[in-house]
Amino acid sequence: MMKIKLEKAEDHELKLKPNENALGFGNHFTDHMFVMTYDQGQGWHDAEICKYKDFSLDPAAMVLHYGQAIFEGLKAYRGKDDQIFLFRPTANLERINASATRMCMPEVPVADVLKALKQLLELEREWIPRAAGSTLYIRPTMIATEAGLGVRPAKRFLFFIILCPVGAYYAEGFNPVKIFVTDKYVRAVRGGVGQAKTAGNYAASIMAAVEAKQQGYTQVLWLDAIERKYVEEVGTMNIFFKIDDELITPALNGSILPGITRDSVLRLTRDWGLKVTEREISIDEIIAANARGGLQEIFGTGTAAVISPVGSLHYKDQDYTINGGKTGQLAQRLFDEMQAIQYGRQPDPYDWMIKV
Ligand SMILES: *Cc1c(COP(=O)(O)O)cnc(C)c1O
Repeated sequence: MMKIKLEKAEDHELKLKPNENALGFGNHFTDHMFVMTYDQGQGWHDAEICKYKDFSLDPAAMVLHYGQAIFEGLKAYRGKDDQIFLFRPTANLERINASATRMCMPEVPVADVLKALKQLLELEREWIPRAAGSTLYIRPTMIATEAGLGVRPAKRFLFFIILCPVGAYYAEGFNPVKIFVTDKYVRAVRGGVGQAKTAGNYAASIMAAVEAKQQGYTQVLWLDAIERKYVEEVGTMNIFFKIDDELITPALNGSILPGITRDSVLRLTRDWGLKVTEREISIDEIIAANARGGLQEIFGTGTAAVISPVGSLHYKDQDYTINGGKTGQLAQRLFDEMQAIQYGRQPDPYDWMIKV
């Protein structure tokens, strides 16, 4: 096992905890973080839990120029009897390794990093919020730190984990979102890096999101990059459609991010006996199903929101209302069931939860 050095912040350096009822997302960071360094030939070394602080980087650090950067997002939940739970953390660490492979970056040792994460969470236990629906968001990240301007894989990397208390996503209950279907911009193309959680994908998506917001929409629905016809994802979430009592989600094709929430929803709904299909689905099929009354629900899935119901679609200058603009029954059931498992209120038949 990896040795982890511990260097605690001094008492006078500890931050004041933010107001739990106004946390928002990604605004506050805890007192400590985990870091480790990789050098080619040496592997991962100098693992430590230390004070949350600035990095010092060479201006030629390769991440700043060519974007070798990958990340993950998962949550710690304060559940029943003040127990702390993680939801499928090994799946996130396996996915960061898949992203690493695609980006010519080194894999991390999954068992060691999970141990380090648990140790960090124990130290930061008081930062895990108590307000209903609030969580501690966990952001593992890896960047290329070697100085150099040649375009090639770096030989030196930094891996770190930072923690961030976040508020309930739906403080006032579900609010179905208005979605702009873009056929002007694309998120990712088969053969590219769409299935990797790599920084550039998000930089590339910002302009479409800004234009959608300017027109009054919450998120962008992405179509495939080649024909601009098949649905891929919604914002930074996977997407599901319920049509004629069948649950359909786009099959993983290389340009879609393999979401852990997506995988969990597939598992739950199959076990509930629903007809569930992973396949290509075109925007025309969805509009047609809506027109004949067969489209029952649309929702997005991801760690941040868990389930995000879609109330309307805007496509080629037309607005389409979905399920009367209301949250569907299946979206509500999935949200309730997932949250009950994540907070330890309900038995976990899948062994998804890890107790810290
Ligand atoms: C992270 C992410 C998702 C959702 O993945 P989860 O593991 O469910 O959080 C979906 N799409 C994109 C583009 C993402 O970055």
